[in-house]
Amino acid sequence: MNDRILNFAAGPSMLSDEVLLRIQSELLNYKGTGMSVMEMSHRSKAYLEIFNETKDLLKKVMNIPDHYEIMFIQGGATQQFGTIPLNLMKTGKADYIVTGVFSGKSAQEASKFGNVHIVYDDKDNHYKHIPTQNELNLSEDADYVHYCANNTIYGTEWKYVPDTKGKPIVVDMSSNILSKPVNVEDYGMIYAGAQKNMGIAGIGVIIVRKDLIETHRDNIPVLMEYNTMAKNDSMYNTPATFAIYVLGCVLKWIDDLGGLEVMEQRNIKKAKLLYDYLDSSTFYQPHSDKENRSLMNVTFTTPSKELDDKFVKESIENGMTNLKGHRLTGGIRASIYNAMPYEGVEKLVSFMKKFEEENK
Ligand code: PMP
Repeated sequence: MNDRILNFAAGPSMLSDEVLLRIQSELLNYKGTGMSVMEMSHRSKAYLEIFNETKDLLKKVMNIPDHYEIMFIQGGATQQFGTIPLNLMKTGKADYIVTGVFSGKSAQEASKFGNVHIVYDDKDNHYKHIPTQNELNLSEDADYVHYCANNTIYGTEWKYVPDTKGKPIVVDMSSNILSKPVNVEDYGMIYAGAQKNMGIAGIGVIIVRKDLIETHRDNIPVLMEYNTMAKNDSMYNTPATFAIYVLGCVLKWIDDLGGLEVMEQRNIKKAKLLYDYLDSSTFYQPHSDKENRSLMNVTFTTPSKELDDKFVKESIENGMTNLKGHRLTGGIRASIYNAMPYEGVEKLVSFMKKFEEENK
């Protein structure tokens, strides 16, 4: 697979060669069924096996207790920004911690449906920082506390779970789910779009405490009712069958490698290589505060906008792509999710060294 480019995209992003080769080998005739997974009825025996295996693997890999529901939904993480308050804002009030673009959007969306208290907003500091417990001005009567565990655009990541005094935490883990072990019981609900560390675009994954979804607001679209989706095992309507199958392949790959502890060690090793180099250089400037740096999205700038553009152009000529920072931040962003091999980051760092030498 030497002709594959190193893809540093923030999402949809790189899949491992092992996962892609498995999908390729099963594409035309899945396990003797004579058809592709894409062509199967979601109610067929063969597909239900794929579906149940995927759910069981997620449960195993993330160590999800029985009192949590697992759901696969369409509409991505953004759909959940509105669906969460419709289901979980029982008294009409929620706390939102804003540490980047997506947590801002989720707060904005929730404010259409109830009283949103912004606990903290790092906007004036260009979203370099994750608040410490002391910086969180939590309210007494919120139905839940929402935050985004990893800020894909700015490259910051929460390194602790805040103490919310028993209020359920609702967390957007779109860009760091499956990157390390988490204690699911610390959260009321975990949700994520699949297209970064879980496979391909088309589904979002929800892991939610069953007692939180017994009720919801009246008069909401049926596909937004968590308890209806749960009762129907994510099959009230046709689910995104192929995306769920790919998630299963990704989970199997992670499980075979040793699970989330192994993923975390690999991710720490990759990120350390890149951050250590950034810290040793006066040419590149990392964006995030040192203690909040993301293991998944590494953001930095060169000394000028012109050099940023030149960096991106030359990186493509050197077999690396999608290193351009988000349009809101500019600069460079290297997304190094689970599927990015250590050798990929080594190649990036050696390119960066050469670029620094040639342009400083
Ligand atoms: N949350 C985070 C942290 C994200 O990175 C993204 C997408 N980049 C979203 C939410 C939105 O996800 P989707 O496109 O699946 O709606």
